[in-house]
Amino acid sequence: MYAEILIEYPTKKIDKYFTYIIPSDLQGKVKKGMKVKIPFGTKIINGFVMNVMDSYECEYELKEIIQIVDEELLLNEELMNLGMYLQEKTLCPLISAYQTMLPSSLKIKDNDTNYKYFKSYIILNKSKEEINEYLNTYKKENKQTILLKELLDKDKLLKKDYSDAVINALVKKELIKVIKEQEYRINKENNYNLVKHELNEEQNNAFNTIKNTNNFEVYLLEGITGSGKTEVYLNLINEVIKNGKEAIMLVPEITLTAQIVNRFYDWFGSKVAILHSALSSGEKYDEYLKIIRGEVSVVVGTRSAIFAPFNNLGIVIIDEEHSDSFKQDNMPRYNAIDIAKERCKYYNIPLVLGSATPTLETRARAIKGVYKHLFLTKRVGSSNLPTVKIVDMMEEVKKGNFIFSDELVNKMKEVINNDEQVILLLNRRGYSTTVNCSYCGYTYKCPNCDITLTYHKSTDNLRCHYCGYTIKKSNTCPNCHEQSLTYLGLGTEKVETELQKILPEAKIIRMDQDTTSKKGAHEKIIESFKNKEYNILLGTQMISKGLDFPYVTLVGIINADTSLNVPDFRGNERTFALLYQASGRAGRSGLKSNVLIQTYNPDNQVLNFVKDNDFNSFYKYEMDIRRMLKYPPYYYLVGLKIISSDYNLVLENATKIGNYLKSEVEEETIVLGPTTASIFRINNNYHFQIVIKYRFDNKLMEILKYLDSIYINDNKVNLEIDIDPLHI
Ligand code: ADP
Ligand code: ZN
Repeated sequence: MYAEILIEYPTKKIDKYFTYIIPSDLQGKVKKGMKVKIPFGTKIINGFVMNVMDSYECEYELKEIIQIVDEELLLNEELMNLGMYLQEKTLCPLISAYQTMLPSSLKIKDNDTNYKYFKSYIILNKSKEEINEYLNTYKKENKQTILLKELLDKDKLLKKDYSDAVINALVKKELIKVIKEQEYRINKENNYNLVKHELNEEQNNAFNTIKNTNNFEVYLLEGITGSGKTEVYLNLINEVIKNGKEAIMLVPEITLTAQIVNRFYDWFGSKVAILHSALSSGEKYDEYLKIIRGEVSVVVGTRSAIFAPFNNLGIVIIDEEHSDSFKQDNMPRYNAIDIAKERCKYYNIPLVLGSATPTLETRARAIKGVYKHLFLTKRVGSSNLPTVKIVDMMEEVKKGNFIFSDELVNKMKEVINNDEQVILLLNRRGYSTTVNCSYCGYTYKCPNCDITLTYHKSTDNLRCHYCGYTIKKSNTCPNCHEQSLTYLGLGTEKVETELQKILPEAKIIRMDQDTTSKKGAHEKIIESFKNKEYNILLGTQMISKGLDFPYVTLVGIINADTSLNVPDFRGNERTFALLYQASGRAGRSGLKSNVLIQTYNPDNQVLNFVKDNDFNSFYKYEMDIRRMLKYPPYYYLVGLKIISSDYNLVLENATKIGNYLKSEVEEETIVLGPTTASIFRINNNYHFQIVIKYRFDNKLMEILKYLDSIYINDNKVNLEIDIDPLHI
């Protein structure tokens, strides 16, 4: 028997099959979709079995497969084909598609680590009668007899709870033995404190419509914050499980949505597996095994959980579908929504996209009828929407208020006096704290990249967020040697310090990258705030999503403007979504609530749509802009980056690629550039970009494939092609 193997050779991104002999002891065991170890040149590497064949003819001598990496882990037919779809859709090598689909613990670098987790137990090695007999002859009680008696009672005990000396003595007498059992690192009991609400009319309508779908269909569930979308998802998944099928639920970032995960555990207990980047490799491996073994029916996870190896899917749900996190930034540059569509088509099942602020692309499709549009327009129960007000910071600055307006301070005092809570959002999108010299104008910049360094107070150093370059901040300006360095921009730490000065009595908790880097820190912050141990939760975007605190009656947006000024056509859309979601944290339990948006542009249209809680008008306004400027959803985009450490080479190749594209694409297609990318130099590599806008172009994919095939073998110039990019 022979096998065709797709090799995992990290430096060669070329997809090639090699044929190997299946040795007799592995015959019948080696299957399509498995990982195996094979000799390759002088090395031993991993490979993917693409085909098993009875016979094969060739002139040279073939080598044998060494072993199977893990017999349990195997991609089924559907997933093998999905890998090919991924290759086709994103122009990535097939091998990187399969690598993306499997947990990282199975990637080649971790080859030799055994991720199965075992616990040692002790059990009796003789029948109970024999043990009793032994005990009877041994009148005196000692540690050994106590342990034996316990084992008569309990059958199995954890080895680490008992002394090694006692265990060894009993093992020597052949009375007990030590066994190892594989265990999962994450274990959940079945349902404890389940609260199932009776669905309201709108929820029921959405639930029934989706439940009664017998074919592939995409739904947009557009529901305002707190309208009970998650409750609808839970009910749908419950139905799917009842019918013996499986469900995938994607969320933007699990650490941000710990509250949602807990609701899933409450409903489905040990039937839930979770998959996200904050898990250890071992935990990921275990969760993956649970799915492969068919022990769970629901996966809740981030982007790559869309590849969960179920084989009887009943529904896929993508919550907060507008989130950037569903698109992968590096190869393969896939969007989980596209993958979800492909899987749902295969199983002929519904795909549910949920959001309070869907992307313009998604909403346009729903309005055109390509997707079915469902609405949740009311908040659940007694909770009502907050009153939103815009505060003009230009006026405040005249009074000397740079961070907090008088109105925000007064409202905070009022709320805290009422024993209610405040959430403060510092909008840090496209934003950083830099150090400048107020005397000569010097700015700290990264020597490798084209960007200013960001100051970190906790470590008192400056860091490049692209390449990691770090230096200590000096007391004097490195250029003019004056003591005149100043900080531009606001950090959460700075805001916290200032806030504490204004409200010395207030208990403030901060949630940002620094305070949540430790495992479990995020949950702890949420829990303690929910228990009212703090008056104010201050944080970055991570506080805007999915959190549900009943006593929050004031949300303050400290700086609404920053994300409007980012040079990206989605700037408005992202700002609207962020502020709308953040406002949605207020007034969840029927208490009267307020949102204050501080801005230097009080007349800005986008902010006023947020104020009026008017997604519809925002949508129309932004669609007009997109139509005029020929952006999605009116046009599709492709982004090309041409990268090299050699300036002349990159310029020459970018020009060549640009000219080639212009001569080959359809007449209506627009090719922009090449221009220098928004960050021109990263890690001493020069970046040029080309943007393609098109509506229909039958030739384009073939053209891109051709370009890709040329540059994949070029060691000096790199070409990155991003189809449907989120950022340009
Ligand atoms: P969303 O996902 O739209 O933000 P959730 O599903 O989280 O909304 O619902 C908000 C809150 O309302 C949750 O605490 C949830 O338990 C509760 N809830 C949802 N549906 C109902 C209902 N029909 N009746 C009562 N409470 C509900
Ligand atoms: Zn750098």
